[in-house]
Amino acid sequence: MIVSKQKNREELLSLLDGLTSLFLVGCSACATVCKSGGEEEVFRMEEWLTSLGKKVTGSVVIDSPCNVNRTARDLRDHRVQVEEADAVMVLACGAGVHSVVLKSGKRVIGALDTLFLGNTIRNGQFGEKCSLCGNCLLNETGGICPVTLCAKGLLNGPCGGMEEGKCEVDRELDCAWHLIYENLKKQGRQDIFTRTVPPRTGGKNSHPEN
Ligand code: SF4
Ligand code: SF4
Repeated sequence: MIVSKQKNREELLSLLDGLTSLFLVGCSACATVCKSGGEEEVFRMEEWLTSLGKKVTGSVVIDSPCNVNRTARDLRDHRVQVEEADAVMVLACGAGVHSVVLKSGKRVIGALDTLFLGNTIRNGQFGEKCSLCGNCLLNETGGICPVTLCAKGLLNGPCGGMEEGKCEVDRELDCAWHLIYENLKKQGRQDIFTRTVPPRTGGKNSHPEN
């Protein structure tokens, strides 16, 4: 899931300068789970904008606005309200914002900060376990990602600062390479630990242009 949070009100206020009317778009998937852009948050945003004297011409909570075609369809269904607004405010991740940019033809205000790809630990609590590097090492590391979980992103074992399995950057946290070793040991695959992973070039990381 993509974890996001709402921008603070001061920042939003500066983005609203000169705008008198807005159409709101929320997300019924990730942003609803994160409580950053679901029905409730869209409703609260509308209340806040109205209290500032802005007109909210309408709103829609799209089932995954990262889906471009679904976003196009839902914006079409609200065409008159979208047209009436000076701008569309989007309470969704960056991918959702992009869909609205593509399909609305309007000025778009992104109301959220997109944080990371998250595992849900429990309701409302998320952990980052993968940084989407595009060159996955998990088969070499017992399923634990050093790119994300090692404070230095080290690829070939722990740094000299590890102490009793804890990270030198924060002694409250387990060293990623300690976890990797323990996991490989459980799996009877410690031999993998002696392999050397070549330096990363970033060449395999794909960033499509469209
Ligand atoms: S190595 Fe880590 S950051 Fe890269 S794809 Fe695998 S889990 Fe994600
Ligand atoms: S102690 Fe472990 S997790 Fe922390 S920076 Fe060093 S290798 Fe990375």
